[in-house]
Amino acid sequence: MLRDPRLNRGTAFTADERRALGLEGLLPDVVSNPTTQMHRAELHLANLGNDLERYQYFSDLQERNESLFYRVLMHDPVKYMPIVYTPTVGTACQEYGRWYRRPKGLWISVNHRGRMRDVLRNWPVDDVRFIVVTDGERILGLGDLGAQGMGIPIGKLALYTACAGVPPHLALPITLDVGTNNESLLNDEFYIGVRQRRLVGADYDAFVEEFVSAVEEVFPDASIQWEDFANQNAVPILNRYRNRICSFNDDIQGTAAVGVAGILSAVRFKNEALANQRVLFFGAGSAGVGIADLLTLVLIQEGVPEEQARKCCYLFDSKGLVTAERTDLTETKIPYAHNIDGAETLVDAVRRVRPTAIIGTSTIPGSFDVDVITAMAELNDRPIIFPFSNPTSKAECSAEQAYTWTQGKAIFAAGSPFLPVELNGRTYHPGQGNNVLVFPAVGLAVFAARPTSIPDEAFAVAARSLAAITTVDDFERGLVYPPLRTIRETELLIAADVATWFWNAGLARVDQPSDVHAYVRGMAWKPEY
Ligand code: NAD
Repeated sequence: MLRDPRLNRGTAFTADERRALGLEGLLPDVVSNPTTQMHRAELHLANLGNDLERYQYFSDLQERNESLFYRVLMHDPVKYMPIVYTPTVGTACQEYGRWYRRPKGLWISVNHRGRMRDVLRNWPVDDVRFIVVTDGERILGLGDLGAQGMGIPIGKLALYTACAGVPPHLALPITLDVGTNNESLLNDEFYIGVRQRRLVGADYDAFVEEFVSAVEEVFPDASIQWEDFANQNAVPILNRYRNRICSFNDDIQGTAAVGVAGILSAVRFKNEALANQRVLFFGAGSAGVGIADLLTLVLIQEGVPEEQARKCCYLFDSKGLVTAERTDLTETKIPYAHNIDGAETLVDAVRRVRPTAIIGTSTIPGSFDVDVITAMAELNDRPIIFPFSNPTSKAECSAEQAYTWTQGKAIFAAGSPFLPVELNGRTYHPGQGNNVLVFPAVGLAVFAARPTSIPDEAFAVAARSLAAITTVDDFERGLVYPPLRTIRETELLIAADVATWFWNAGLARVDQPSDVHAYVRGMAWKPEY
């Protein structure tokens, strides 16, 4: 029991439990209460030298005493989420092979082709409900980290539990190890993955197909969250499987809900109409187009004709502004190719489009430079500036830059956390526009209602719910989202709204309870012995 993180309570085992379980003598005499255990862990964390060491401490704690791990994490999400997740998880993935100690999660590699069902059966738990799976090709904004991307599914699942109470024993993190094209990893003595270049084309598709079929057979109640796949695979995989198995892509749909919620909050507090917004997306990959598509859906739901709704969104990709004249556009960008003159630089695009909001999903740090941000401030009383790229090192601008260059006028949210900014005697609290505000809630809603699929409308519900929870007080402090310290309460409310929608849409596979809010809340796991 002392070696099993799900059962271990360490020094919190009572004298009676120790006697009954044969643990006497295997623990020091003291019987700690869980709060003292938490304080001890926090003392350790405070004494460590840097955040990567703190990440490793959390990782070890999760393997030692799962309940205590979640108790510490949930005790102060503002302090500890940036360690367990972005930005520190990015460094942890880059360094994975160097600090690797014990396996966590499941690696399904090219060498398991034809045998994936057996590999899944090696997982020691039969009832799996949530799989977060990556192929490691687009880890945060850090690119191809191959098998070392495992930190991301592990971190995401920890947040499902910490933020929304999704039971941890039902979760399974998986990395599809299809090789890596990252030369430095291929040449790194400590790399932990298959040392070959990535599978592509039909071989890759067949690999993913075998994986999905194996999940359907071995874990028939599991839903899949596709995570950090490169754009050329993310969109086709989502479209291929979304109606076959309950699944979603958080980078596309979860980010979309958070992006749209941020815009909904901002226009509510600015007292403007959503249909009058022009949003310029810098970076037109999974996240950027995902937000644009959901914003279009929300506008259509509000009665705006589709053609007009699309015209609220403009894309800027690595070749410049997306216009009708361009002949090099992928299918996902074509709905946003408007009849306007092109622009090669972002600042020119801002002058041409005259956006009310710019959203960065480009992974190009510093791209929202002083010219871009001052142009936004000249065009708008309250410019919406959302540098969403992660981790912090990839953010398009910092909070300080956005506030300073707009004289405090910016409505700001970033993908990774930023510290408060003092400007002209005022303190601005930069919000974090991260999909963590939505995916745990969707997970709990899926756990509660067990829908057959998770359509985009569910994310529109999540976006509206998240925006509605944000208060005037939050906004006046600089936030377009509720503060992270109340994240658990936020997620439970969103989860209940999304679950209600699953029932109303006829997608749920269990009977509707009389009080969905109480039912969803009651299903949320708590870190208690
Ligand atoms: P992606 O690879 O699908 O898209 C990135 C896009 O940026 C590509 O289309 C690329 O062409 C474009 N780009 C690259 N260089 C550019 C340049 N010089 N000018 C303009 N565009 C350029 O990746 P993604 O999934 O869309 O993620 C992008 C970023 O967004 C990552 O940093 C990721 O961490 C971040 N992200 C944040 C959140 C969040 O919750 N805040 C969620 C998802 C993704």
